[in-house]
Amino acid sequence: MVFKIENYIRDVKDFPKEGIVFKDITPLLADADALQKTTEELLKLVPSDIDKVIGIEARGFFFGSLLATHLNAGFVPVRKPGKLPYKTFEESYALEYGTDKLCMHIDAIKKGESVLIHDDVLATGGTAQAVAKLVEKAGGEVVMLNFLIELSFLNGKDKLEGYQTSSLLTY
Ligand code: AMP
Repeated sequence: MVFKIENYIRDVKDFPKEGIVFKDITPLLADADALQKTTEELLKLVPSDIDKVIGIEARGFFFGSLLATHLNAGFVPVRKPGKLPYKTFEESYALEYGTDKLCMHIDAIKKGESVLIHDDVLATGGTAQAVAKLVEKAGGEVVMLNFLIELSFLNGKDKLEGYQTSSLLTY
């Protein structure tokens, strides 16, 4: 049978609220072959000369850290407020209702470092855009934003204009 990554992604309707079709990647994480093949496929999409890979809380941590080990790069978590213990840069971004904030340790990225940002899903793009701004606050260079899944009907790429992006699956 031909291996298809999309067979390991489960659509969960109305989670976390009505009208959302949640792309659940846990079946992909739970299958040894799928986990390995997905990592290999993601590696084909990203540049090799990377100093730091950023994983966005929380589902960006899984493949973010796997990519970092294969790229011989460091891994940096970007988290919600109140989770990181040391001093942080912060960036607010708009949600459907209200705003949210993301944080990164001030010493996680050094000036001039090449940074790959990874998350599981690109939806409206607000989250990824905020993380790109965090990298730039620290003096890093965003080389690419990489996603496992892009929900193209939400036009997230519009918010990421001027940045290189790549996604393994597009819906
Ligand atoms: P956005 O800022 O709208 O691009 O949303 C991206 C963030 O929300 C990512 O961290 C995703 O993990 C999560 N997300 C948004 N929509 C979905 C979805 N349909 N399925 C799974 N995760 C989602």
